Amino acid sequence: RAKNSGRNSYRYYTEEMQAKSARILILENALRRALDQQQFVLNYQPQISTDTGKLVGAETLLRWHHPELGLISPAEFIPIAEDSGQIYQIGAWVLRTAIQQLKSWIEAGLPPMIIAVNLSAVQFRHTGLPDLVTSLLNEIDLPAQYLELELTESVAMDEPLEAIAIMDNLHNRGVRMSIDDFGTGYSSLNYLKKFKVYKLKIDQSFIRDINTDPEDKAIVTAIISMAHSLGFQTIAEGVETAEQLDFLRIQGCDEIQGYHYSKPLNTEQFSAFVRDWQPLKDK
Ligand code: C2E
Ligand code: MG
Ligand code: MG
Ligand code: MG
Repeated sequence: RAKNSGRNSYRYYTEEMQAKSARILILENALRRALDQQQFVLNYQPQISTDTGKLVGAETLLRWHHPELGLISPAEFIPIAEDSGQIYQIGAWVLRTAIQQLKSWIEAGLPPMIIAVNLSAVQFRHTGLPDLVTSLLNEIDLPAQYLELELTESVAMDEPLEAIAIMDNLHNRGVRMSIDDFGTGYSSLNYLKKFKVYKLKIDQSFIRDINTDPEDKAIVTAIISMAHSLGFQTIAEGVETAEQLDFLRIQGCDEIQGYHYSKPLNTEQFSAFVRDWQPLKDK
C-alpha cells in the first residue's frame, strides 16, 4: 500500500508539473519564503483632487523583490498566490503594513489622507475579511474612515448579491470601498446602484488615448456622469499627460492618479512628495 500511494503521489506530482509552467512553480515556491525574508515592500501612489489640487490619498501597490529573480510584477504573482492560498497571509501583511504606515505618517505630522488597498478576489470572498480589517484598525488605532478597499469590477460583479452583502458589512464598519478597473468588466447597473462604494476608478485603458479617441472620450464622459448620478465619486487611473488631465477636469472627474503627478513611490519618497506638494501647482 505504501508503495502504491508513493507511486500515486509521484504520478500526481509529475502531472501537476506538466500542467503548470515551470515559471509558475518557481514563483509559487519562492513565494513561500517571501514574507519571512521580507522581500515584499509597499509603494504608494498619490491621488490628487482635480478641484483643489490637494493630495487626498494614496494607493498602495505591492512590490516583490526576489534576490535572484529580481522584481516580479503583482500582475504575475498575485494570481499565483491566489491559486496556492498564499494570498491570505500576503493580503493580511499588505493591510497591516498600509494601516501602520499611514498611522506613523500621521504621527510624524503628515496630513491625514485615505490609504487605498487592493483586494484580490479570494481575499474579498473570505469570510474572515471584515473581522481582520476591524481588528487591524483597532490594534493600530486608525479610524476606519481612512481605509479604502479596492475591488475590481469583475470581482464585484461575479456573484453580485454575495458581493453586496460583503460590501454592506465593510461599509457598516466604516471602511470605504471603491471599484477598480471600472469599465473593463461587465457591470449590471441594477447591482452597481446597490454597491456601497464611494468611488469608481476609471480604468487606465480608457485614459490612454482620451485626447484623440472619440469613443474613449464618450465612454469616460458617460462613466463620470453616471457615477455622479448614482452618488459615486470618480478617479481616473493612468493619467500621464497635462492634456489628459485637462480633459478629465473639464468633465468633472473628481480625482487623478498617474505618472503625470507621480509614479508609485517608496515610503521615503512618498513622505517627501507630501511635504513638497503644492496644492495649486498645475491647476
Ligand atoms: P491596479 O490596482 O489597477 O493598479 C494600477 C496599476 O497601474 C499599477 O500597476 C500602477 O503602478 C500602474 N500605474 C499607475 N499610474 C500609471 C500611469 O500613469 N501609467 C501607467 N502605464 N501605469 C500606471 P502595478 O503596481 O504593476 O499593479 C498591477 C496590479 O496588481 C494592480 O492594478 C492590482 O490589481 C494588483 N496589485 C497591486 N498591489 C496589490 C496588492 O497589494 N494586493 C492585490 N490583491 N493586488 C495588487
Ligand atoms: Mg487598484
Ligand atoms: Mg486599476
Ligand atoms: Mg488592474
